[in-house]
Amino acid sequence: MSSSILVTGGAGYIGSHIVLALRREGFWPVVVDDLSSGRRELVSAEVPFTEGDCGDEALIRPLLRREGIVSVIHCAGRIRVDESVRDPLLYYQGNTLVSRNLIAACVAEKIPSFLFSSTAAVYGNPAEIPILEETPLNPVNPYGRSKLMTEMMLQDASMAYGLRALSMRYFNVAGADPDARAGQVIPFVSHLIRRALRVYLGEFPQLEIFGTDYPTPDGTCIRDYIHVSDLADAHVRGIRYLLAGGASRAVNCGYGHGFSVREVLRAVEAVTGQPLPMVESPRREGDPAALVAQADWLRKELGWTPKFDDLPTIIAHALAWEKKALHDFQ
Ligand code: UDP
Repeated sequence: MSSSILVTGGAGYIGSHIVLALRREGFWPVVVDDLSSGRRELVSAEVPFTEGDCGDEALIRPLLRREGIVSVIHCAGRIRVDESVRDPLLYYQGNTLVSRNLIAACVAEKIPSFLFSSTAAVYGNPAEIPILEETPLNPVNPYGRSKLMTEMMLQDASMAYGLRALSMRYFNVAGADPDARAGQVIPFVSHLIRRALRVYLGEFPQLEIFGTDYPTPDGTCIRDYIHVSDLADAHVRGIRYLLAGGASRAVNCGYGHGFSVREVLRAVEAVTGQPLPMVESPRREGDPAALVAQADWLRKELGWTPKFDDLPTIIAHALAWEKKALHDFQ
């Protein structure tokens, strides 16, 4: 049991891929998920599963003891920027307070290390690209602030109690497990690649391009799209680093190069072999022009070598999953 890892939100999109990667690498993942957006079917029946709130110390502390947990990967949380603007307290509850309680449970049970799902949203609208981990943190919405507060709590807990923590700042996570064992299931389809594929599959009439007047080469926003399985692999490496005594820090999770919205849509057309109905629309509020990671630490210090750093592959895996999900999860 010396390799038992608690994965909160393990039935969600990213968490379920982390569970697959941990199992492949010989760890023993244990999942807690309240199933508010995750799906039980995304987690193998062999994985110990508790349905519940990971901010409930009375639930988590005995679980940590019983399962002999050596590290926690905290993925559970709310992820919609628009929703966070409409209802910020929901985000300070679901992201910040829940994290506070989970961290408290870990400190009380002397769990030595903690890996946290953070976000590039902690940078806000950065003045320079690529974004370094040292780039000033200036989140521009409650979602980003709710995540940054957890990063800060972890820094303080690291100093005060010696809980070593990695905050993984995700850029644009996309794609799905290459064997279609997991993928995105939340009914709200807002992310670019998923939305474009749902247009191709006939669920929406056309794809709206949000803004064509950005200061980028083709006028549309640039993002660093990272395959979810590569991201999951980075987590396994992060866990090994922490278990080996690695120091607390924050780390960017992206490939280090970006694609514009138009480039992504052209790649979708190439993968599907069909022209995609699209229309130019006004900017979506709050979208920065470009977000591209400088992710050298992950490669150099954790030896991370992405396997799927290829936009058509990301899109093809996402498409295979969407076809399956339309059938299995609707
Ligand atoms: N986008 C778009 N049309 C859509 C969805 C997204 O033009 O239907 C753009 C969005 O404005 C942003 C980029 O695609 O510039 C990536 O958006 P997404 O929601 O996938 O991720 P975000 O970067 O907001 O986390």
